[in-house]
Amino acid sequence: MPFPEYQRTESFAERMDKLDPLRRYREFFFIPERNGRPVIYLCGNSLGLQPRQVAEYIGVELDAWASLGVDGHFGGAHPWVYYRKRSKEALSVLVGADEDEVVAMNQLSTNLHLLLVSFYRPSSKKYRILTESGAFPSDQYILESQVKYHGFDPADAIIEMEPAAGRHTLKTEEILEAIDRHASELALVMMAGVQYYTGQRFDMEKIAQRAAYYRIPVGFDLAHAVGNVPLALHDWGVDFAAWCSYKYLNSGPGNVSGIFVHQKHGKAFDLPRFAGWWGHDESERFLMKKGFKPMGGADGWLLANDNVLGLAAHQASLDLFMEAGLENLTLKSEQLTGYLAFLLNQLNERNKPVIEVITPGNPRERGAQLSLFVHKGGKALFDRITNEGIVCDWRNPNVIRVAPVPFYNSFKDIYKFAHVLENALRAFD
Ligand SMILES: *Cc1c(COP(=O)(O)O)cnc(C)c1O
Repeated sequence: MPFPEYQRTESFAERMDKLDPLRRYREFFFIPERNGRPVIYLCGNSLGLQPRQVAEYIGVELDAWASLGVDGHFGGAHPWVYYRKRSKEALSVLVGADEDEVVAMNQLSTNLHLLLVSFYRPSSKKYRILTESGAFPSDQYILESQVKYHGFDPADAIIEMEPAAGRHTLKTEEILEAIDRHASELALVMMAGVQYYTGQRFDMEKIAQRAAYYRIPVGFDLAHAVGNVPLALHDWGVDFAAWCSYKYLNSGPGNVSGIFVHQKHGKAFDLPRFAGWWGHDESERFLMKKGFKPMGGADGWLLANDNVLGLAAHQASLDLFMEAGLENLTLKSEQLTGYLAFLLNQLNERNKPVIEVITPGNPRERGAQLSLFVHKGGKALFDRITNEGIVCDWRNPNVIRVAPVPFYNSFKDIYKFAHVLENALRAFD
């Protein structure tokens, strides 16, 4: 289907909503209200909304716990000992992997540390890490503390790629050139898949291939990529990745993270790793024997038994992803965000160009989110649209992040947002 010729009218937005094959999914989520009216929620990049079926999925496990007690580990509809396996099918589709390459566990920052234990193995000559500047703070702290842990100086060991003067984002060529330039001293390339601040989607395939050419391990933090853009981690040859489930994956605040470990490392049992009983060979886990024997695949990085109630909420959302289909979601996402870009462009044309979209204009270089650098009004502008029932977020010094989510946002949401923004800007004339 060719993309629609966008129009800046409410009736166009309504017509798009009528034609939207995914429109019924909005009803599957709770939309928060303010002053008795549903908000325009454009913050799914920070916390995805709650699928209505979450309570039911958790309820099944609460009932099993109530009626079976400890026997729920091996009995009930979904024995808890194997609960995480339920999520493997959906996770493998979401990140483009085989099921043995993914597992849900822990939280994102924890998992990145665990993966770096295995994949950041510096030597006196090759110890540096290449990453993007302005990475999410947790990722910065993780790299900084890992580097120190190995006895290196973060100021020397961490190479942060900066956008060229006057630009907000990196070009793929610049990233590849940085890998070429530093190849002999790099122990790791580790970046976001989609950058949380700029909304830029990096060309993970090209980055992974260039790093692989020099045999440099490459890992991605997919917090803003999973459930947002198509991924093919296995085919791209990415070594490892991790993500969280509460942003585009709609699984609830602080809920379980997931990891990817490429098959080529799945049986590398000599890789250093921090072990726990849940990563031990499942067939003899309960023999409580001495001597850690990791499971093959990503499961060999597990430490602890599953947080079943969290995983149940996660599953409620993953099942919706499988039902709606990733291709359908991606198509709608591109249309929604394209519509937002169109309306902002119109807004700039009819007024002074005060809203600078720093996210790349090419849909292949972004996901749902657009980051708006505001040259007028600043934080007061953000507060004003918040008062008008918009939920999005503010990032210093001057950025409003807006993320239309194909599951629950409508074209009308986007139309209303642009309308409210334009009215709010008038206050600062
Ligand atoms: C959201 C986010 C995190 C959050 O980490 P938690 O361990 O889940 O608290 C980390 N890194 C990036 C890039 C993020 O976007």
